[in-house]
Amino acid sequence: MADSIYPVPTDWADNALVTAAVYDERYRMSLDDPDTFWREEAARLDWIKPFSTVKETSFNEADFGIRWFGDGTLNLAANCLDRHLAERGDTVAILWEADDPAEAGRAITYRELHEQVCRFANLLKAHGVRRGERVTLYLPMVPEAAVAMLACARIGAIHSVVFAGFSPEALAGRIQDCDSRIVVTADEGLRAGKRVPLKANVDAALGHHCEAVDTVIVLKRTGADVAMVEGRDIDWATGVAAQSADCPAEEMGAEDPLFILYTSGSTGKPKGVLHTTGGYSVWAAMTFQYVFDYRPGQIFWCAADVGWVTGHSYVVYAPLMMGATTVMFEGVPTWPDPSRFWQVVDKFGVEIFYGAPTALRALMREGDDWVTKTSRKTLRLLGSVGEPINPEAWEWYHRVVGEGRCPIVDTWWQTETGACMMTPLPGAHALKPGSAAMPMFGVKPLLLTPEGQVIEGAGEGCLAIADSWPGQMRTVWGDHDRFFQTYFTTFKGLYFTGDGCKRDTDGYYWITGRIDDVINVSGHRMGTAEIESALVAHPKVAEAAVVGMPHDVKGQGIYAFVTTNVEVEPDEALRRELVQWVRREIGPIATPDIIQFTPALPKTRSGKIMRRILRKIGENDLTNLGDTSTLADPAVVDHLLSERPQPA
Ligand code: ATP
Ligand code: MG
Repeated sequence: MADSIYPVPTDWADNALVTAAVYDERYRMSLDDPDTFWREEAARLDWIKPFSTVKETSFNEADFGIRWFGDGTLNLAANCLDRHLAERGDTVAILWEADDPAEAGRAITYRELHEQVCRFANLLKAHGVRRGERVTLYLPMVPEAAVAMLACARIGAIHSVVFAGFSPEALAGRIQDCDSRIVVTADEGLRAGKRVPLKANVDAALGHHCEAVDTVIVLKRTGADVAMVEGRDIDWATGVAAQSADCPAEEMGAEDPLFILYTSGSTGKPKGVLHTTGGYSVWAAMTFQYVFDYRPGQIFWCAADVGWVTGHSYVVYAPLMMGATTVMFEGVPTWPDPSRFWQVVDKFGVEIFYGAPTALRALMREGDDWVTKTSRKTLRLLGSVGEPINPEAWEWYHRVVGEGRCPIVDTWWQTETGACMMTPLPGAHALKPGSAAMPMFGVKPLLLTPEGQVIEGAGEGCLAIADSWPGQMRTVWGDHDRFFQTYFTTFKGLYFTGDGCKRDTDGYYWITGRIDDVINVSGHRMGTAEIESALVAHPKVAEAAVVGMPHDVKGQGIYAFVTTNVEVEPDEALRRELVQWVRREIGPIATPDIIQFTPALPKTRSGKIMRRILRKIGENDLTNLGDTSTLADPAVVDHLLSERPQPA
């Protein structure tokens, strides 16, 4: 654990929405009197019919159930659009940056977005889409992705966004799993100057036993000549032109389904995570305002894709509920060059930037000049999400990107949790690099031994959450039993996150990675994240992944996959140097048994290291690598397999 600590800057301590005193008081209230607390926080939204009940939840098998604001009604699209029109109809809702910096971007006002959503919602209705029906969205990072999501929310259809980087097989599986009969896509996507054949992928997916699909709406993004199937495929622009700009918002029950999102699959078969309307909206909007200390008029950029939950909650829904200007970026951080993020920050005057450790490590590897040649003077707050951020990468983000002046919110959460669960709040908590700090309001984390003993005070264990929060997922689509079995049986009466976590003597939480990633070397339990952080702290190392491997003497040995900085040529000397380095940083117990250099690590399409596959390589069990459909680049695995070194 890094020992540096960054106190709350004075201007934040004085002026933040949530100061240390406010945090303590509100946090206590959120646990002691949830009904009053959530009644107040839910007032952030416009309800059609106010709720009379707040929290009706139980994690116990006998009376298991999760309902929030149960008898209230509302419409999320109306909360994102209609209610802003009078006051900020001409404010920009979405600032869109194209993949190619030479292509003109777009600035769409709330009034324009409202009109586009209504027209598209009417198009869906004209094609028979009804309340409760599943609509699959397979779209690039263009404003129409938000339009389609909001249109579904407006008419009460359930969207299932499938990341546009997924293969036809992965898409087909998701279409089938939720019985979707309509798919919305684009002719092609663009990423780093390369074309992605989205429409062709949909056609291929529909050849994979998706007979139920009778309608495909196709947005023109590149204008490529794509095959259109007569009677099935509809051109987006032609379709909406024929529709009225008036579409009443459906009155939805708080517990009516809002969307399904399949998890990224780093641990196995993707699950259709279902979120509902009221609780998710309250939770996303509240966390957005407090975590990012959001004030009206600020430009907010979450660099996640809408294909992930982070994109759902913090590119689209929460910023729009709060009337913010949200930046949407089609491209990638390293193209045309590694300065791109910071150029976009300067171009739009971004004040709050929220990104992922995987992107930061990739940029750190390219050197500081790409960052320092940009201004970034508008930035006031930085965020991180998706993986534990190594203290090394944290320090770089803080010192180089934020020039030491921007607090970093390291937000821990999951697709299942809807929005941020643990994070420092910039005006309330001193920062410790690599720590997700403190629980959000209403979240009571518990650390447990594998046997289910609660650990009090400082310690390390399995992370569970004691009680429900509004943005919790409600079920696994089509498999309620899998929902209960997966999350509520490991520790009876608690939600089990699957993650390991430490609590230090200040009460700060440190996510150590997935429980599956804990290795046991000669009886010593170690989180792989700690060894990875030690490796990444070496000046020549860009990224590292550590897994266990069977070892005759130690039970488990340590297998490290290492990617060096671009200018470094890995060799035997560096291998020896890294072994010594880890021994010095952590201790001899953490000595890697194998270090395999690799130009890249296998990652999910959301950029997370797929440790499940690395574990298989570590175990030398290469026959059954499991579901690899969510891998970003399968060639990386072939390369690792062919180059696997044997223990010395
Ligand atoms: P799957 O559940 O399909 O295997 P996944 O867990 O990668 O995929 P997500 O819901 O996107 O899918 O990711 C949640 C997980 O990401 C968390 O459980 C945690 O392991 C990790 N994570 C997210 N944010 C942080 C963070 N700030 N610090 C540490 N870990 C994080
Ligand atoms: Mg998960």
